[in-house]
Amino acid sequence: MQWLTSGESSPITSPLKIMGPCSAESEEQILEAAAMARDAGAHMFRAGVWKPRSRPNSFQGMGSYALPWLKRVQQEYHMPVCTEAANPHHVEMAIQSGLDAVWIGARTMTNPFAVQELAESLKGTKLGILIKNPINPDLELWCGGIERIIQHTASEKLLAIHRGFSVYRPRVYRNTPMWEIPIELRRRYPKLSVICDASHIAGEKKLIYQVVQTALNLDFDGFMLEIHPNPEKAKSDAQQQLNAEDLKTLLSKLVFRKPISEDPDFNANLEALRYDIDQLDREILSMISTRMDVVREIGKYKKANQVTVLQFERWKQMMESRSMSSEELLLSSEFIERFMQLIHKEAILHQNKIMNENGDQNS
Ligand code: PEP
Ligand code: MN
Repeated sequence: MQWLTSGESSPITSPLKIMGPCSAESEEQILEAAAMARDAGAHMFRAGVWKPRSRPNSFQGMGSYALPWLKRVQQEYHMPVCTEAANPHHVEMAIQSGLDAVWIGARTMTNPFAVQELAESLKGTKLGILIKNPINPDLELWCGGIERIIQHTASEKLLAIHRGFSVYRPRVYRNTPMWEIPIELRRRYPKLSVICDASHIAGEKKLIYQVVQTALNLDFDGFMLEIHPNPEKAKSDAQQQLNAEDLKTLLSKLVFRKPISEDPDFNANLEALRYDIDQLDREILSMISTRMDVVREIGKYKKANQVTVLQFERWKQMMESRSMSSEELLLSSEFIERFMQLIHKEAILHQNKIMNENGDQNS
């Protein structure tokens, strides 16, 4: 994240903070939000000028008319500024206006043609590029988008943004975090910084704190927050934008932890506990392997007796009885259900293979 420093200031120590309103609405609102961001220690200011709205009659953003407002923030508040770019024209305008970075939004990221065009238009520019995840939980698509950008720009000014994944009927979050996806992204690209856009995951103010804190607990490189001097009047995403007071409270509650410790006692104890975990994992896998031996035995027996792989009643009973032990085992019934489904899926594969061996269904 060295690129976010102008060279004069010291390098950013994690976590990176990007703040700003969902949309640029007026010059006054932008300057007020910038003051909030600066006072909160933001490293970069964000504001959408072209807004990817679901419905055509909602506020679509102020367009390039708002770009000079961002330039003012950059010059008067000494913060790098970014906006969303969804096509080469937006990139061109961002460059002409002297912005520091663009983000590629979640909707654009679902379309490889659009990402390709953007990647080509970003070639040779000095813009930083912030790549959100696509709205659907498709890690390959996210990786593919990142690869297209890397191939064309050879840019080191890259950052990935986890903003959650959209579902048909959102329950807790507006966009479910599915933390395992950004975790896997980080495993694949260890050098890529990944930050969490907690506002678009949460969708409402009261959930933002726990999303940011979870991201910090998972050692994300930073977070993005939508802030607004007067959220009730916001023209987009009103429920999830924080006012100065909310922002202050949220930042004061956050606990920042370090990924490693220098304390030798702590490290020795951790190592001992991890040894236990390694042992237990080996035992679990070995027991699952033994379980699969029995599964194959049953498969052969069913085959010899012309009985199907699946007995629905038995499967139903198994799920019910296994979930019943959830309290006693201190495991959530959801976890037990998902775990059993995984085991059962594998068992079916083993038995189905036995049934279809030699292409002879009767032997
Ligand atoms: C935004 O950041 O304002 C935005 C539209 O985000 P996303 O693409 O994640 O929905
Ligand atoms: Mn928004």
